[in-house]
Amino acid sequence: MTRIMASNSKSIAQAAEVLKLGGLVGMPTETVYGLAANACDGKAVAKIFEAKGRPSFNPLIVHVNDVDDVLALAEMNAFEHALAQKFWPGPLTMILKRRNDCPLSELVSAGLPTVAVRIPSHKTARQLIAASGVPIAAPSANKSGSLSPTAPAHVAQSLGDAVDFILADGVCSVGLESTVIDCSGNVPVILRPGGITAEDVSEALGMTIGYDFGDHGNDVKSPGQLLKHYAPNIPVRLNAVDLEEGEALLSFGSIKFMGIKGAGAASDLPDDSLRHLSKEGDLYEAAANLFSMLRALDSPKNKAIAVMNIPETGIGVAINDRLRRAARG
Ligand code: AMP
Ligand code: MG
Repeated sequence: MTRIMASNSKSIAQAAEVLKLGGLVGMPTETVYGLAANACDGKAVAKIFEAKGRPSFNPLIVHVNDVDDVLALAEMNAFEHALAQKFWPGPLTMILKRRNDCPLSELVSAGLPTVAVRIPSHKTARQLIAASGVPIAAPSANKSGSLSPTAPAHVAQSLGDAVDFILADGVCSVGLESTVIDCSGNVPVILRPGGITAEDVSEALGMTIGYDFGDHGNDVKSPGQLLKHYAPNIPVRLNAVDLEEGEALLSFGSIKFMGIKGAGAASDLPDDSLRHLSKEGDLYEAAANLFSMLRALDSPKNKAIAVMNIPETGIGVAINDRLRRAARG
């Protein structure tokens, strides 16, 4: 049976015990809920792959509390130190070169010479890392390929008894997975858009930083780019300007002028077929709402989820990345 407990000093200590004994913990972070295990314990890490049904070629992100902890695992160059200074703790993951004496399980890196590392800002996550005393591997706490969890109930729904303990601490403030950046080449490149935007990173480094989504064929830098992801059970249709009958609407901005073909106005849709990512057109609000609202509309009662256009700027790039994958699924 999974234990679900509200986050406090006692439950954090219990969750840390579970980690030390090789178990799995649902851990709140500012991005999404993570499925946490001791990253130095190969058997515990293997349980993550099993619980998620995650392909073993797809490496995990390791969470620690400060740069010294990072340096015990991996090497950092000047770009990486600059980004750490600016964005850690926070929703930025860096792909770093593993140290020769790196104590992490090989499975964490899926056999690659690199490791993905992040210092989270979420208070409970930080307390859990400190209490466990080990680096924590934590991908999103959902079945591979489905929507990421932004609330404790989502973790229980998606993983059932495969997770031993869930630390419940409300909804995630960012709501999208971390930005993944690779600084190992001459020019840093973002492999996964997320809470920290290309504009943020460009400003911090004083140079224009772009994206590499691995959609150019052979040279895929991040194994996760190969996978379809974030898919609800019903179809997702993007850039909707009107609705087919039976479709649910995920709106962005005003829906005053949006109609349902042959059946009236979108604003008259029943509650279980309508969610507003952000009525004011605020991209950060939309990001925080994205996964929970896709989940809420993902019901057999709806034929499909029609999503209004989201501007491809700032965190909108990350929202559209998740939506395109959802639509492909
Ligand atoms: P998740 O754990 O589901 O948030 O996904 C982590 C993402 O980071 C996936 O897309 C992984 O493929 C990617 N990733 C993790 N470790 C590495 C690594 N060492 N090199 C390249 N990409 C990585
Ligand atoms: Mg994930």
